[in-house]
Amino acid sequence: MFDFLWRKKTASFTGGIILDGHKHVSKIITPPIAKELVYPLFLASNRYAKSCVKIGDYVKKGQVIATPDSPLSTPIHAASSGTITAIEKRLIAHPSGLAENCIILQTDGLETVLEAEPCLDYQQQNREFLREKIHLAGIVGLGGAAFPTAKKLNNSQPIHTLIINAAECEPYISCDESLAIRSAKNIIQGTLIIQHILQTARCIIAIEDSKPEAYAALLSAIKTTDIQIQKVPSIYPAGGEKQLIQAITGQKIPAQKLIFESGFICQNIATSFAIYQAIILGMPLTERVITVTGAGIKQAQNLQAKIGTPIKDLVQACQGYTNHAEQLIMGGPMMGIALASDDIAIIKTSNCLLIEPLKQADTQPCIRCGDCAEVCPSELLPQQLYWYSRSQEWDNCTDYQLADCIECGCCDVVCPSKIPLVQAFRIAKAEITQKHRQTEQAALAKERFENQQHRKLRIAQEKAQQLAKRKAAIEKMKAAAAQRKLN
Ligand code: SF4
Ligand code: SF4
Repeated sequence: MFDFLWRKKTASFTGGIILDGHKHVSKIITPPIAKELVYPLFLASNRYAKSCVKIGDYVKKGQVIATPDSPLSTPIHAASSGTITAIEKRLIAHPSGLAENCIILQTDGLETVLEAEPCLDYQQQNREFLREKIHLAGIVGLGGAAFPTAKKLNNSQPIHTLIINAAECEPYISCDESLAIRSAKNIIQGTLIIQHILQTARCIIAIEDSKPEAYAALLSAIKTTDIQIQKVPSIYPAGGEKQLIQAITGQKIPAQKLIFESGFICQNIATSFAIYQAIILGMPLTERVITVTGAGIKQAQNLQAKIGTPIKDLVQACQGYTNHAEQLIMGGPMMGIALASDDIAIIKTSNCLLIEPLKQADTQPCIRCGDCAEVCPSELLPQQLYWYSRSQEWDNCTDYQLADCIECGCCDVVCPSKIPLVQAFRIAKAEITQKHRQTEQAALAKERFENQQHRKLRIAQEKAQQLAKRKAAIEKMKAAAAQRKLN
């Protein structure tokens, strides 16, 4: 794949590798407004939004165009003003490569904005009010997980430490670093709002030791607060939640345990910034900073991009492709997904577009060297998991804790046989999820059928009882009539 060094033994979390950063930290530029913005109604696994606009509607910047259709779904807002021209299937940024229903907005270039509802006195507001505002602003975790932030901040258990993740450990990606340099004060305002919602006494910003300018900007911005900042070694994947917690607190969160169960919560710095915009400025999430980089792009840079912008428009804003543009990856080289077309639009979690030459891997059989297990931050046995994934032994995959794989790609990078391990794990996870869903659906259908049968039986029994009662009453009446005749 690309150059790596084994990690030093002194590093502060299990596994991991040292990678060449390839980061080009640029000033953030604003590209021209795309003629067409595209909004998939598919949000993430099993999560959709429902369109609340129709073809021909005029919408303003910041207006809701789709509403949540389930508790883990979030609204979608127009990132510019214009007319809805279609609601149709388009290719989306998803490993499946499938098309999904999308709202198409033809922009008018006027940027007519819906009136904002700022809330400057957030400290006087209660947590529910602020969480609702965050939900209505459509904010999800911008570090990649796309989990609704309002849900994440609705902690059922006490949180003692809030960690703001500024590690950005994956090579090539520098959007968070650029954002920290440009908007450190606003990131801290957003962080204070999160702290107010969670009522956490302790807040630590974690940043890799290879980002001196961003570190200095954040350090200066926290001066009048009780927020701390701590450097972590530039070892991939230091930005993984459990790895970050271990790196800065020394506490190891056990496998199969969620971090909030141990009193921690992590938020990405871009999410902190989005919360500042939602609460202090009253603006929904319609834009984000994205890195466009790689040997296949003429001018690598960070862009303030409208969500819904087709990739080809961002490429144009970076002076176009070079002759090395052979593959398009959304995300970084370790965890990104390959896309089939630059017509696909960016979504809320799109932090990077990596355009690179195609690298053909000459896959060889496993030599059982154990390198993959040595670098795995989740302490798994990737070679064993690969074997079970390929042979579709799903129960063994579960027993060998495939669910704990964070898909960091460390095992792929070090494998001397160039085996595409993570690809096999992603397929296996999708199959297992599908199997669970089918089992749940089958159990639900069985339960429904049994309930229906019980209901039918109960109704039949009740009818029989009523009939018997009626018959007995008639008999009684007949007997009484006969008695009267005799008398
Ligand atoms: S991708 Fe999964 S198995 Fe491979 S090193 Fe990362 S966590 Fe371990
Ligand atoms: S690193 Fe590759 S060759 Fe070595 S044990 Fe793991 S899968 Fe096998």
